[in-house]
Amino acid sequence: MMGKKVSCPDCQGSSKVNITETCEMCDGTGMREITDDWGTRRKIRCLPCRGTGKITETDMCGMCGGDGWVEV
Ligand SMILES: [Zn+2]
Ligand SMILES: [Zn+2]
Repeated sequence: MMGKKVSCPDCQGSSKVNITETCEMCDGTGMREITDDWGTRRKIRCLPCRGTGKITETDMCGMCGGDGWVEV
């Protein structure tokens, strides 16, 4: 029996997957403590994660190697 190719279940054939990681800039809190020009410590919203504490990246799917198809 030959294997047949089906669209990859991990990426639904798009060959890309979204990876959500904890933001390293704010340690997942979504806020960063800064010292402003007056020496006052203030909390500001973390920019890289836009205050969510998480970073979502699009990466190539490892399941199908970016093919979008897998053999079963
Ligand atoms: Zn952050
Ligand atoms: Zn895939």
